[in-house]
Amino acid sequence: MDFSLSDSQRAVQTLAREFAQAEVAPLSREMDEKAEMPRSLPKRMGEIGLLGGPLPKEYGGGGWDSVSLALAYEELGRVDSSVRGLMTVHTSLVSQCILAWGADSQKQTYLPKLASGEWIGCYALTEPNAGSDAGSMESAATEDGGDYLLDGEKIWITNGGVADVALVFASRDRSLKHKGICAFIVPTNTSGFHREPMPGKELGHRASSHSHITLRQCRVPKSAMLGEPGEGFKVAMSALDHGRLGVAAGALGVAQACLDASASFVRQRRQFGQRIGDMQMAQAAIANMAADVDASRMLVYRAAWLKDQGQRATRETSIAKLFAVEAALRAANEAVLLHGGRGYSTEYPVERYYRDIKGMQIYEGTAHIQRIVIARDVIGQE
Ligand SMILES: Cc1cc2nc3c(=O)[nH]c(=O)nc-3n(C[C@H](O)[C@H](O)[C@H](O)COP(=O)(O)OP(=O)(O)OC[C@H]3O[C@@H](n4cnc5c(N)ncnc54)[C@H](O)[C@@H]3O)c2cc1C
Repeated sequence: MDFSLSDSQRAVQTLAREFAQAEVAPLSREMDEKAEMPRSLPKRMGEIGLLGGPLPKEYGGGGWDSVSLALAYEELGRVDSSVRGLMTVHTSLVSQCILAWGADSQKQTYLPKLASGEWIGCYALTEPNAGSDAGSMESAATEDGGDYLLDGEKIWITNGGVADVALVFASRDRSLKHKGICAFIVPTNTSGFHREPMPGKELGHRASSHSHITLRQCRVPKSAMLGEPGEGFKVAMSALDHGRLGVAAGALGVAQACLDASASFVRQRRQFGQRIGDMQMAQAAIANMAADVDASRMLVYRAAWLKDQGQRATRETSIAKLFAVEAALRAANEAVLLHGGRGYSTEYPVERYYRDIKGMQIYEGTAHIQRIVIARDVIGQE
């Protein structure tokens, strides 16, 4: 078994690490407080090749393998989950999905602009009455001459307020259940496409744009369909296979950040005449975190490696997402405690990690749904 990274994988890791540390970290606290991300950030990510990483070179991509992509997500996740989230939705849920399912003309129209960051993508699946049970969606796609008219509502759409293009899922016949669902590539300036910020203030991922999208007689040509009629549910699930690896790798980054911050803090903070880090209870917390980080890393890299071997990795990706997110939840919980009162304020970043990681337990399939995916694969379905 070879655990080493190749030169090209290391180069991606270094690129993402340097960008995250030098260009994202100085902005993170302010972005979180203002609840916005400057447009210059994703633009810069496009320029240096992060957004198009896994796309082939002919579309302006970097031709990265899945391990490289996971390394990039890990490094961004270590610094800022809103920025990592923007990239996971844009690159894995949208661009990789268009690459997998798109006709040549769709790939040529969208992928170069998505790779360069000129356009931002969002993925619109969730609805007010269809979350985990996405197959029960109510959004309708009605044939009208050479077009489809889209009507419905989508909620919690990451990048929704800034996106130029949306992957929208709607049913052309609800009686067919999953088999009635179609996927469409919809420019967000299409008439009938409306968006507004989600109500309320999010617990975490505050620099992300989360939108409520309303579709009213939103007219798209039949050529906007991604995949065949009725294949939309498969398109949506295949996108989540890519996206879940991104969330797992991002969570690994959060856990590593909690470990780094905690180790540094307990080395310098003194109470009772000694370093906090010399007390056994703090040592146990650090040791548990380190073991969790290592285990998460193995699971995330294994899922990515399996994809690179062309093997099915749905179960392994769900295991990686489930474990890495829950490990990072434990790590963030301990990191805030180890920082004492300081951990409870924005003076230190651990409180942001604590708030951000909870979202990862919910989106792209909740922890319950990951357990269902894993258990069904283990037990088999009747
Ligand atoms: C920060 C953030 C970003 C998001 N970004 C996007 C995005 O870009 N695009 C998008 O389409 N959506 C997005 N979402 C929506 C997200 O995917 C949904 O919130 C998620 O799928 C859960 O759906 P729901 O909120 O309707 O909860 P529900 O499905 O109503 O679930 C409520 C509870 O019931 C549990 N539950 C449901 N079914 C089962 C079951 N069969 N067995 C056991 N327990 C079950 C769930 O696990 C959960 O605990 C985002 C959400 C968040 C918080």
